[in-house]
Amino acid sequence: MKYNIIFLGGGQAGIFGAYEAIEKNPDAKVLIIDKGKMLTQRICPKEKIGTCVNCPTCSIIYGMSGAGAFSDSKFNMDYRVGGDVHTITGKEIVNNTILDVVKVYRKFGFTEEPTGLKYNSVMEEIKKDCIVNGVQLVDTPTMHLGTDGSRKLYTKLIQYLLDKGVEFLTEREVDKLIIENNSVKGVVVTHKGAEEKYYSDYIVAGLGRSGAKKMEELCKTHNINFENGAIDIGVRAEIPDIIMKDINENFYEAKMIYYSRNYRDKMRTFCSNPSGFIAAEKYNDFILANGHAYKDRKSTNTNLALLCTKKFTKPFNQPFEYATAIAKMSAMLTGGKLMVQSYADLKEGRRSTDERLARLNIVPTTEDYVAGDIALACPQRLLDNIMEFIEVLDKITPGFASADLLLYFPEIKFRSTRIEIDKNMETSLKGLYAVGDSSGYGSGLNIAAVMGILAVRDILSK
Ligand SMILES: Cc1cc2nc3c(=O)[nH]c(=O)nc-3n(C[C@H](O)[C@H](O)[C@H](O)COP(=O)(O)OP(=O)(O)OC[C@H]3O[C@@H](n4cnc5c(N)ncnc54)[C@H](O)[C@@H]3O)c2cc1C
Repeated sequence: MKYNIIFLGGGQAGIFGAYEAIEKNPDAKVLIIDKGKMLTQRICPKEKIGTCVNCPTCSIIYGMSGAGAFSDSKFNMDYRVGGDVHTITGKEIVNNTILDVVKVYRKFGFTEEPTGLKYNSVMEEIKKDCIVNGVQLVDTPTMHLGTDGSRKLYTKLIQYLLDKGVEFLTEREVDKLIIENNSVKGVVVTHKGAEEKYYSDYIVAGLGRSGAKKMEELCKTHNINFENGAIDIGVRAEIPDIIMKDINENFYEAKMIYYSRNYRDKMRTFCSNPSGFIAAEKYNDFILANGHAYKDRKSTNTNLALLCTKKFTKPFNQPFEYATAIAKMSAMLTGGKLMVQSYADLKEGRRSTDERLARLNIVPTTEDYVAGDIALACPQRLLDNIMEFIEVLDKITPGFASADLLLYFPEIKFRSTRIEIDKNMETSLKGLYAVGDSSGYGSGLNIAAVMGILAVRDILSK
């Protein structure tokens, strides 16, 4: 069977790309292939029985609607957040396409207005403190769907695509591409141990962070041009809501960027979840920290990532393996759980213990952790940067650098492969488009959707 467009990965980029294709050309034959299950079947046993049973394909990470399905779904309405594809396309096209995505959100039932549009005196004070302390505040309007809200939205959107004739194939893992005369012609996938082939002259690959390694493999196997990108590595911080009250109530999320004094490395806050929950992303042999927040279910803690962006120089060319090695070392120390340490213990140079954590005001919102010593798994340069950043954030949010700050290690954003794409998202292999997180240009829902749409617009024009 030959399709007009095949999407590899049914995440944010794939779903919004397919929507664009079917709206603009209702006769198009569109196929979405994903390693995970349909959204309605993405059920984590832990929700019922309380512990992770290590499913062969984790439903939290893999499956239709991608990482967005279980994400807090803060949708940033500005090109400056969520990736840097604007460095190729220009800013205006990204911002205009973001508005097109917002229209789809509205069509499928999300009606709330964005926060962060108008400054009040508290926001002005926060911005002033950022300026005084050398921190850049990236204040963009943000819509917040919540983990539950985003699931409702995607359920409707996927049903709409099914009704319009888009085909979905689940539990199929991308293996390799079919290529003729330096043009893509199809894809080979593995389904329950057997090989299957699907054909199209246009393939849009949006495999997300979970498929970033696979994307790199495809590039190496098929000589598709790419370069090593940066990795983001750090901790997920958790702190009582009352410390973050001003920021949470006025910005919902305030993205802050800081360059460390000692190493000049870029540090940033990312994905802040007021009254949220810590999430554990399980991979085969390591585990990563993350966080999310529901619209209806609340904790009394805020969690946010404190990340260091590191780009390596030649001859080193294995940033993915480097970050993975750190994650594996941490998992080795904890027996496969997240490592948590209170900031007080980290500063004192001693491991945290359950007994010492129990003396704090804060109660962790996950049980997927072992109290330990982050310094045993985290390289000194990263740890120095994280601690310096925490002290600077304390000047903007008094109380941040307290004993009640819990640090979950490691949080890593794999953006290691930066695929060479043109302004239409087409790679050096004719007909193959790279979009979303696995392209190396995306790290958020907004840019993934934009890239999926821009790729499809180019394909339709051909
Ligand atoms: C817990 C969490 C919270 C987040 N919160 C936010 C937020 O609030 N705001 C925000 O903007 N972003 C957030 N993000 C990031 C956001 O979800 C991603 O940037 C976005 O989903 C990227 O879209 P994508 O289409 O590139 O990839 P994804 O949505 O990850 O989709 C990739 C798809 O590819 C599939 N896949 C992977 N490997 C293979 C393979 N080998 N074969 C076949 N299929 C494969 C996966 O199953 C998945 O469905 C969060 C992420 C997480 C994990």
